[in-house]
Amino acid sequence: VEIVETLRELSDLSALSGHEEPVIRLMKARLAALTDEVTVDNLGNVIALIRGKGGSRAPAMLFAHMDELGLMVNRIQPDGFLRFVRVGGIPERVLQGQRVLLTGKQGLVEGSIGVKSHHVTPAEEKYRVVPFQDCYIDIGAASAAEVEAMGVHVGTPVTYAPSFARLPGGRVRGKAMDNRAGCAALLLIAEGLSKERPAIDVAVVATVQEEFNIRGAVPAAYRLNPAMGICLDVAIAHDTPDLKGHADLNLGGGPVVGHYSFHGRGTLGGLIPHPHLRDGLETLAGRKGIAFQRNVFFGGLGDSSFLQLVREGIPSVDIGIPCRYTHTPVETIAVADLEGVTHLAGEYLRSLPADPDFRRG
Ligand SMILES: [Zn+2]
Repeated sequence: VEIVETLRELSDLSALSGHEEPVIRLMKARLAALTDEVTVDNLGNVIALIRGKGGSRAPAMLFAHMDELGLMVNRIQPDGFLRFVRVGGIPERVLQGQRVLLTGKQGLVEGSIGVKSHHVTPAEEKYRVVPFQDCYIDIGAASAAEVEAMGVHVGTPVTYAPSFARLPGGRVRGKAMDNRAGCAALLLIAEGLSKERPAIDVAVVATVQEEFNIRGAVPAAYRLNPAMGICLDVAIAHDTPDLKGHADLNLGGGPVVGHYSFHGRGTLGGLIPHPHLRDGLETLAGRKGIAFQRNVFFGGLGDSSFLQLVREGIPSVDIGIPCRYTHTPVETIAVADLEGVTHLAGEYLRSLPADPDFRRG
C-alpha cells in the first residue's frame, strides 16, 4: 500500500454520507487482496476478516468511516441555479466561492457556489456569513430543463471538489482527510497484520454514514459482537495561529489516544474509553518508542460514540490522526502521523491474546 497515492485516490473520491459507493468499491477491492474474506452489509459497511493464529471467540473490530460531509440539492430553480441543504457539519463560512462536484445520474458534474461580486457588495455584507439557505450552486445551466439534461435533480449529492496536494515537510492536503486518512490507515494496518498475524482475529471495518449521525458503526458492531473496538478518525490539530494555546495536539506529534469526547448539544454522544484499552495503547507506545498525544475533546463526537450501547457494551477506544481545518476542503495532515497510527494500532493488536479479558474491577 503506497501511502500518499492511496491518500490521494481516497481523498479525491466523492462519497457523501449514504452515497459511499465509490469508496465502498475501492475499499472492498483493496481489502480483498489483503484479508481472508470481505463482505459488504446492507447499509454499505465493508467488513474484512483477518484470521488470527489463536482461534478467537470474538474478533477485535478496527474501524474508520468512509463517508464525507457535503450538500444535497433540494430545489432546481427555473433559471438553472440549484438550492441545497447541508449533510453533516459543513461550515457555512467556507461555502461561497467554493468549487463542488455533483454526483449526477450520468456522472460527475462541476459546480461553483455563487457569491455576490465583490465590487457591488455593500459594506455591511462584507463581513457577514451567508446562511446556506441563501446560497446557490451554478453548474452552467440556464434552465431547469438543462439541469435535468445534465443528470442533476432534487436529491443529487454534492461534495467539495478534489484539492489533494503534497506539501513540504511530509504533509498532505485534501478534502475528506476526515476520514479517508482513517481508511488509508485501515489498508496499511490490514497489510501489516496479514503478513505478520496477531493471535486475535481482526475485523477491519470501513463504515458508512458517520457524518450523517453515526449510523454505520453500530449495526456493524452488532453483527460482529467484537471483543473490543478501535476507532480511527482525525483529531483536531491545535497548532495553527487561531487555535494555539487551547490544546496541544500538533501535526507531526504522533497518533492521538482519546481520553474523552462529548457532544452535549443534542446527541449526548461521546466516548470515555475503556481503561484497559486506553492504558494498553499508551503502555505499548512507551515500550515501542512511539510518540503519542492525548486528546480531551469537548463539543464533538465520533464513530465510536455509541459502541458502548451495543449488546453488552463493546470496550472501545479512539486513535486519532491530527488534522488541521477539519470539515473544510483543505484538511491537512502529516503522513508521519498516519504511519504512527498504523504502527501503534498494528502493534497493539499483535500484543493481544486470542481472547483478551476486558472485565473491570
Ligand atoms: Zn470523521
